[in-house]
Amino acid sequence: MELQTKALHAGYEKDSQGTMAVPIYMSTAYEFRDVEHAANLFSLKELGNIYTRLNNPTTDVFEKRFAEIEGGAAAIATSSGMSATFFAIANAAEAGDNIVCARQLYGGSLTLTAHTLKRFGIEARFFDVHNPESIEALVDDKTKIIFFESLTNPSIDVADIEAITAIANKHGILTVVDNTVATPILCRPFEFGADITVHSASKYTTGQGLAIGGILVERKELVEKLKGNPRYAHFNEPDASYHGLVYVDVPLPPFTLRTRLSLLRDIGAVSSPFNSWLFIQGLEHLSLRMREHSSNALQLAEYLEAHPKVNKVNYPGLKSNENYKMGQKYFQDGACSGLLSFEVASLEEATKIVNATELYSLVVNIGDSKSIITHPASTTHQQLNEEELKACGVPSGLIRISCGLESINDLIADMEQALNS
Ligand code: PLP
Repeated sequence: MELQTKALHAGYEKDSQGTMAVPIYMSTAYEFRDVEHAANLFSLKELGNIYTRLNNPTTDVFEKRFAEIEGGAAAIATSSGMSATFFAIANAAEAGDNIVCARQLYGGSLTLTAHTLKRFGIEARFFDVHNPESIEALVDDKTKIIFFESLTNPSIDVADIEAITAIANKHGILTVVDNTVATPILCRPFEFGADITVHSASKYTTGQGLAIGGILVERKELVEKLKGNPRYAHFNEPDASYHGLVYVDVPLPPFTLRTRLSLLRDIGAVSSPFNSWLFIQGLEHLSLRMREHSSNALQLAEYLEAHPKVNKVNYPGLKSNENYKMGQKYFQDGACSGLLSFEVASLEEATKIVNATELYSLVVNIGDSKSIITHPASTTHQQLNEEELKACGVPSGLIRISCGLESINDLIADMEQALNS
């Protein structure tokens, strides 16, 4: 089956009512047939529903469908993109370990890795996504994860996934790719050697800015990388918290199994069944939307590039962009999603343009069907001074656009009047 078909059908067997739409199972818990049935579920002799913090039939469809679209073995839906990222790291690393992360990360992932995890004894070491060779000098026998975004937010760079996973594989280290901005429709990290993907489902998956959620996906045959690997002793030794279960010995995808049995159980950042249902609705037309987002973004980028007030446009679909070659290599038909940014001369100029737009909403989100405009220097990066802004690639005249699904003629016309205001 092709992606478009999987997005509509995978993971759902119609129930006795024959419901075409996946039902929303709003239920905290599930009745066991008898004591033996309950015991079998807890010991994994039988698989089934126990309690919605661990599993839920609606969430199960979302997880199975997303895993199929991503080309993975299994998935875990979470309460947010941030909790998916946290689970991916916490499932591999513990106090005393380190993780190697791209410097070009979403702001929340940067604060999680650089600050919050530091307080848990996990050290983050950063590399420039344009320079994967620098990873080699950062890894040691305590490195548990190499973490990066396929298409970075907000810097809009494209990672050389094959180059990064080759270094990770040489050392037997797991790679985690945040594939939120590219989505599984445009970019397929597992085909380029990645082990785990994470997504904020709050963006293109819901597609209409309806709900916060996340998902973590494990590639097929990951067990081969974990089995006997001294970096991941906790997958190879009995888990005292789960009556001595050895994750690599169970015939289920081990990374997601441990995330569910250990982390979802103890931390509980689970997707609500209603949100899982919203994400299922979003997946149905994700492939159509991603094509349209990408086409609109490219046309807007081309328009901006030709405008005399615009100093620079960052969009990997532009031939002039330093990420163009990577975009053509890693993205389906070279379609580079809906995120772009551009620079004007000054903070004052940027402020004027952002205030003058009418169709673009001033919002700190991306991946909505409605177009969004953000001025990082006055919002997400407000605490940084001029020099710091430059160092992290956010000059004060930078404007970020999440290009929506409005008519491109209207989007360009509104941008034109704002630039001329
Ligand atoms: N990853 C990326 C690339 C993001 O842009 C975001 C949010 O903007 C996240 C992760 C975090 O997702 P959430 O807001 O769903 O926790």
